[in-house]
Amino acid sequence: MLHYDIEADWQLLNTCNYRCAYCSFSPATLGEKLTVHAEPREWSRAIDRTGLTWLLHITGGEPTIYPRFAELCRLLTAKHFISFNSNLTHPSALDIAKHVDPSRISYINAGFHPEERELKKGLPTFLKHAYSLIARNFPLFISVVATPDVLSRFDEIIGLTATLGIAPLPKLLRGPYKGKHYPAAYSAEEKMAFREFAAKACKTYNGPFLQGLTERPSIDVFGDEKYLDGVAPFRGRMCIAGERFVSLRPNGNVYRCQPKQTNYLGNLLDCSFRRLNGKSPCDSYYCFYFCLKFADAASGAANESDTFAFSHREPDETRWRNRPMSAAASMSDVEQDAKGAA
Ligand code: SF4
Ligand code: SF4
Repeated sequence: MLHYDIEADWQLLNTCNYRCAYCSFSPATLGEKLTVHAEPREWSRAIDRTGLTWLLHITGGEPTIYPRFAELCRLLTAKHFISFNSNLTHPSALDIAKHVDPSRISYINAGFHPEERELKKGLPTFLKHAYSLIARNFPLFISVVATPDVLSRFDEIIGLTATLGIAPLPKLLRGPYKGKHYPAAYSAEEKMAFREFAAKACKTYNGPFLQGLTERPSIDVFGDEKYLDGVAPFRGRMCIAGERFVSLRPNGNVYRCQPKQTNYLGNLLDCSFRRLNGKSPCDSYYCFYFCLKFADAASGAANESDTFAFSHREPDETRWRNRPMSAAASMSDVEQDAKGAA
């Protein structure tokens, strides 16, 4: 069971070696020169100094390309818990498999990204890195952003990872993609394909993976099909973000969730971070998965997926925000907000 005081959605860097068409970062942002705001030991000391036990969800960009990423994971997991998103292209995945204790990992969300994977001939590397982690009992699942192209060939995509014994789970496409807004733009046929894909993929996780999980993954794609028709708005709901959850930025700035001035809670690296106390009404936009985890349920709505029974559930984890599709802003808005508050 993971006992932690607070969870952070930690955007460690902007840079990525892929250019997925649905990425919420612009190609220019993904192509930025990688900035190291702190060495692994500086990060771990700063986090230890808070006196809290953290669940750190590390994302980017592509976190595994961060210099000495495996060392960072090893240091952090001495006292804290981590999870991370990765396209599993970088060999640091092999170092993590060798040097990090899997019992300190909540989950690894391995993003499949078929178009980029095919373009860069990256399937063998993905399978090798995923296998090395699974073989050492790391709780790894594979997700794939459910674009219309992916939905049109989901049996083929399921087959691509068959040697691992697990299939990519479809992840709702949220936001603008090729001139349309999703999930609203899914056709009836695409919704049916999504449900069938999800049912087939979920089955491959029955067994050791689910038995080994101690709580639902914060990026909980085991049930995205429930949100094909949208999700009740979060604005106005009571939310514990700020106390039990924060957004941690590459430079150490901490926000309640959406990076805007009124959500600023200080900086981890300069020791000025102070968390909030208790729930307050939602007045922000943020990643749908974290909102589902930390906001009170809308009246009459389930807050948790019931696809699987997990051994433990906390009471109440790419970065798709809860903004209604009609009002969706580009990631550059968030980046501007963040710069404004920095
Ligand atoms: S979706 Fe993930 S893998 Fe793809 S470009 Fe964005 S950060 Fe990189
Ligand atoms: S945007 Fe999400 S995480 Fe932030 S306060 Fe609202 S519900 Fe909570």
